[in-house]
Amino acid sequence: MKIKVVKFGGSSLADARQIEKARDIIMSDPDRRYIVVSAAGKRHNDDDKMTDLFINCHEIKDDEIKRKTIEDKIRTRYIELVKDLDVDFDVEKELDYIFEKDKNETHVDFIASRGEYLSAKIISKYLNATFLDMAGVIIFGKDRKIDYDTSYANIRTAIEKVENDYKDESVRIIIPGFYGSTEDDDVVTFSRGGSDITGAVVARALNADIYENWTDVSGVMFADPRMAPNAKPIEYITYTELRELSYMGANVLHEATVYPVSKVGIPINILNTNSPSDKGTMIIASIPSIAKRNVVTGIAGRKGFTSILLQRALMNEEVGYLSRLLKIFENENIPVEHCPTGIDTISIVMRSEFLNGKKDRIIQKIKDELAPDLLNIEENLSLFAVVGEGMVYHKEVIMNIFKVLSEANVTVKMIDQGSSGINVIIGVKDSDYESALRALGSLQDIS
Ligand code: ASP
Repeated sequence: MKIKVVKFGGSSLADARQIEKARDIIMSDPDRRYIVVSAAGKRHNDDDKMTDLFINCHEIKDDEIKRKTIEDKIRTRYIELVKDLDVDFDVEKELDYIFEKDKNETHVDFIASRGEYLSAKIISKYLNATFLDMAGVIIFGKDRKIDYDTSYANIRTAIEKVENDYKDESVRIIIPGFYGSTEDDDVVTFSRGGSDITGAVVARALNADIYENWTDVSGVMFADPRMAPNAKPIEYITYTELRELSYMGANVLHEATVYPVSKVGIPINILNTNSPSDKGTMIIASIPSIAKRNVVTGIAGRKGFTSILLQRALMNEEVGYLSRLLKIFENENIPVEHCPTGIDTISIVMRSEFLNGKKDRIIQKIKDELAPDLLNIEENLSLFAVVGEGMVYHKEVIMNIFKVLSEANVTVKMIDQGSSGINVIIGVKDSDYESALRALGSLQDIS
């Protein structure tokens, strides 16, 4: 038997109809025995995510009238769900307890985690499976950061216990995502979207053959499909390529998801609950030789960067010039994202939000300490990452980047080939963001 850890996101569990689809997916494969669930998500665009409602409830604790309205919204939604699924579960009693307990909680985490808790409780009843709480199993330290090794060990022990108790290895175990607790049972959540991390942690603990992440798209798309409508799902992508794309804004998995599984090479398969026969995207350590891949794996972009360019004659001969420049940003607590250099030029690229209230001071410091011949600030920049392992060996990529951008009338403000050789970063004006994304979308066909 294979070990498959299967995680369903909020949109896959938003109502009874979606939960039925998830059930069919689970039941169609006896290896799908470890099931991690999110809180119910939106049923349509204007709907609420249960997690948002729970958090909101905590935030307006002192306003009884407003709080009651939110509590009622939560109640109505769960009562309807339990009724539609026809499960025997006293959700009102659970909610009474949750709302009452939250009144004495300083942290939002307990109530924020209850969407996952209730999903797991309800779905375990519905599937006649076993609920396994993660409080006391996934452990967070005093700094409220996860203790991976203790959590892996605890998960193994807890699952073995369930399997022994049932004397049946085919028992399905339903695990709430998103939270664990401190050693003294104080519930702690991951950051938003964190059920993905729970899936990865469980997969790692069990040394799973695969981590299936079921969502509402058929995989990671070549580019944001809202702007590049011809973008197709990527069939295979490496952990590193995904990291590059996610960093640039491709919103696929929580960014901490890859860490536990990539260490031991467990593949993540992104799949679509609404179209379960689609292959989706396989995220792996290295691309199998049978895979047919184009040169560029994907592109992603983000607005809101600033670039500060310094020019100074014979800069290359001055020992420590770059280091003194970087020190200024370090002292101002500003992370530097890119640092393309020429012989006599250096640009420092950072997110504009970090410069708020500091810009004039930094410029003055640069002038005083580094005396550049020219200092130029370029604000409102968008950066794009064109990502693909092995891409550096295809000179036509760079050529095509310039070609498609110039055809779209987009001026390239900056270009930086990452030293890992798997990405090229392109800077354009924010106002050219959409045109650039559309144009770069055509790189998916370079083979
Ligand atoms: N329910 C949580 C959130 O909305 C976690 C998750 O869905 O992954 O952020």
